[in-house]
Amino acid sequence: MQLYTKILLGLILGAVVGFIANVAGLVWLQSFLIALEPLGTAFIRAITMIVVPLVVASLMVGTASLGDLAKLGRIGGKTIAFYLCTTAVAVTIGLTVSNLIKPGAGIDDSTRDVLSAQFEGQAAGAMTLAEEAPSVIETLLNIIPRNPVAAAANLELLPLIFFTIVFAAAVSVIAPKRRDAVITFFEGVNDASMVVIDWIMKTAPYAVFALISAVVARFGLDLLQSLLVYSGVVVLGLLLHLTITYGLAVRFLAKLNFFTFLRRISNAPLVAFSTSSSNATLPVTMETAEERLGISKPVSSFVLPLGATINMDGTALYQAVAVMFIAQIYGIEIGLTEQLIVVLTATLASIGAAGVPSAGIITLIIVLNAVGLGAQVQAGIALILGVDRILDMIRTSVNVTGDLTAASVVARSEGEDLSFPPRGDGDDDGMGLPRSRREVPVGAGG
Ligand code: ASP
Repeated sequence: MQLYTKILLGLILGAVVGFIANVAGLVWLQSFLIALEPLGTAFIRAITMIVVPLVVASLMVGTASLGDLAKLGRIGGKTIAFYLCTTAVAVTIGLTVSNLIKPGAGIDDSTRDVLSAQFEGQAAGAMTLAEEAPSVIETLLNIIPRNPVAAAANLELLPLIFFTIVFAAAVSVIAPKRRDAVITFFEGVNDASMVVIDWIMKTAPYAVFALISAVVARFGLDLLQSLLVYSGVVVLGLLLHLTITYGLAVRFLAKLNFFTFLRRISNAPLVAFSTSSSNATLPVTMETAEERLGISKPVSSFVLPLGATINMDGTALYQAVAVMFIAQIYGIEIGLTEQLIVVLTATLASIGAAGVPSAGIITLIIVLNAVGLGAQVQAGIALILGVDRILDMIRTSVNVTGDLTAASVVARSEGEDLSFPPRGDGDDDGMGLPRSRREVPVGAGG
C-alpha cells in the first residue's frame, strides 16, 4: 500500500472514531483518544526536528552548486512574483464568495453574542500576541540575522534562509577544492536528513490517526452548526483556489496533469492537514518536490522554505472571508475601497503569519483594523475561534499545495523536465529512497 493511502486511512479512521466518541458522548473513548494525542505530538516534534539541518544543507547544496548566481536571482524573482500573484487571487476569491453567499447574514444577534462570549478569553490572548508583533521595518530588518545560530535555534526560517544563501553564494566563488569539500559535506547532511524523514514518515499514518481523532473527539460540533455557512464559504473558496488557480497553473505553466500532480504530492497536504503547520510539513514538502515531482535542488531548496514562511494562500483567503463575515454579522458595510484594502493587507498579513498552527488568526487582527473594524476586533475573533482549528487544518493543506505548485511552475520555467522520472516507483511504501541514496548501500564498498 502506498504511504499516502495509509496516511489517508489513518486520517479517515481517526475522524470516524473521534466523531463517534463525540456524537455518542462516549467519555471513555474521548479520554482514550485525547490520551493518544502525545503520539501525534511526538511525530510533529520529530519532523520539525529535521527542518533546520534539511533547510540549511539543501539550500547550501542547491545554491553553491548553481555556479550561476544570476540564476538564483531569476528563480527568486519568479518565486516571489508567483507567490504574490496567487495570494492576491486567493483573497479575491475569498471576497467574491463572501459577497455572493453572505455567510454573516443569517446569524441573529443573540447567537452571535453567545458564540462570541464563549471564546472571549482566548480572543484577548490573540489580541495581546498581535500587539507584541514587530513593525514592518522591524520585520524586514529581522530577515538579516545578527546571529544565524540563534535564528536556527529559534526556528526562524527567513533569517536562516538569508544567511545560508549569502554563505552558499560565497562558497560558490572560493577555490574549487575547498568549495567541493563544503558541498560534499552538506550533500551528506542533506541525504541523511532525507533518510531521517523517511523513517519518521513511516509512523505518519498512526500519528495522523492520533492527531485527528483527538481533534474531532474534542471538537464542539454545536459550534460548527452555527458557523456552518461561514466554514462552508471558507472551504468553498479554498476548493475554488485549489482547482482553478493551482489547476490552471499546474496544467498550463508547469505542464503537468493536475490529478497526477495531486496524487504525487498528496503526502504533503495530508501531513499539513494533520499538523496545521507549514513549517512542520516542510521536510515532507521538500522530499515530495525532489523525489515525487523530480524538481531540482536549486529550485526546491529555495522555493519551498521561502514558501513555508511567506506563501499562505489558504490563510489569506480565509482572512478575506473572516473579515467579510465579521463585518456582515455586525452590519458594517465593506465597500469596494475597503475590499481593495483587504486584498492588500490580507496578502501582507499572510506573508507575516508564521507557518505554525493558528498564526493566521493573529495576523487577521491587522486586516480587521485596516478596514476599520477596530471596535469589533476582539468580539469578532472570539466569534470565529471555535471553528478555527478545523479551518486551520484545511487552509494549511492549501498553503502547502501552493508552495508545491510554485516549485513546479518555477522548475518548469527553468527548463526542468517534470515527467516524474526519479521515483523508485516499485517501492512498496511509496517513499523509497531516491537513486542517489540507494545506489551505494552503506557497507557495499562503493
Ligand atoms: N497554520 C497555517 C500554516 O502553518 C497558518 C495559519 O493560517 O494559521 O500554514
